[in-house]
Amino acid sequence: MYCNFMSRSGTSSVLAAVLLLAAATAGADSGWYRQDAAIMGTAIHVEVYHEDAALAQRAIAVVLDEMHHIDRVMSPFRPDSELSRVNREATLGPVPVSPELARLIERALQVSELTAGAFDITFASIGYLYDYRDGKRPDAQTVQQALPAIDFRHVHVDQAAATVAFASRGVRIDLGGIAKGYAVEQSALLLRGMGIRHAMISAGGDTRVIGDRHGRPWLVGIRHPRDEHGILTRLPVQDEAVSTSGDYERFFDEDGVRYHHIIDPATGDSARSALSVTILGPDTTMTDALSTSLFVLGPERGIALIDRLPEYEAVMVDARGGLHYSSGLAPHQP
Ligand code: AMP
Ligand code: MG
Repeated sequence: MYCNFMSRSGTSSVLAAVLLLAAATAGADSGWYRQDAAIMGTAIHVEVYHEDAALAQRAIAVVLDEMHHIDRVMSPFRPDSELSRVNREATLGPVPVSPELARLIERALQVSELTAGAFDITFASIGYLYDYRDGKRPDAQTVQQALPAIDFRHVHVDQAAATVAFASRGVRIDLGGIAKGYAVEQSALLLRGMGIRHAMISAGGDTRVIGDRHGRPWLVGIRHPRDEHGILTRLPVQDEAVSTSGDYERFFDEDGVRYHHIIDPATGDSARSALSVTILGPDTTMTDALSTSLFVLGPERGIALIDRLPEYEAVMVDARGGLHYSSGLAPHQP
């Protein structure tokens, strides 16, 4: 279940596992339509197959509209998003939200229960103090003072009334660890509803493939976390969701320490027991939330969790570059 590729490749350089979709391009390409976009602060890529060109292009437009919709509701960077309103007002009492936002927050809270708090949308109570572009981070005292606000139990969702309230002061939430996967999953539902049987949708590190490609599985390459061009392993997938979390996506290095966007809710500091995590499974909302969760849990607790979820598999690169696979992926080990 474990092999250290750093020693095999003879390089001690850092590794960064992003997910690459190395689509097999052999064969005719007719009937396939593609589009790239930048939405939700990330790179969106959509590929759709249909014999009816107008339908395929409409399908791509529907996906991009859905992503814009989710961004308008859930972006922490838009003052007029529902999420921003919740963060301003929910310490004062229940804030009315759309049933959709209430449901996604509820799902995030369920993942918190499942992961013993490794996944926690209240990480944002401290997370907002980091600025990875400007290399800014809170000092230790500020982190200690704000740490009690990180606790998913402070978030109360009333599904029937569609309201969200925070039970403590200083609490903020951010859906950055789950919303892109949710957007991809919703988009896949819409495509299926339009009769699309072959497609790929990706938003940053979260991807879903529908069907196969030219009669063959899609090939998902898992990238070396510190070498953009190095591929650790390739996995054939079909009708599958794949999410990758890595410490190379948003970060700065200071005195040899990497500060990056995945926060350990127990410490308020960046999680450092992994470099990247890839999760495969049936639901992109879950693969997204689980990839962030496993990054925080680290190899032992993380792989043990995935091995309890029969539909989900994981590949993790630990802090020293060692590879860990969940038991269902053992046959794919390079
Ligand atoms: P991903 O790339 O899916 O792992 O998502 C990373 C994003 O998840 C970060 O940019 C934050 O918005 C959010 N995040 C960071 N730490 C946590 C955490 N412990 N639980 C839930 N979300 C988190
Ligand atoms: Mg995630």
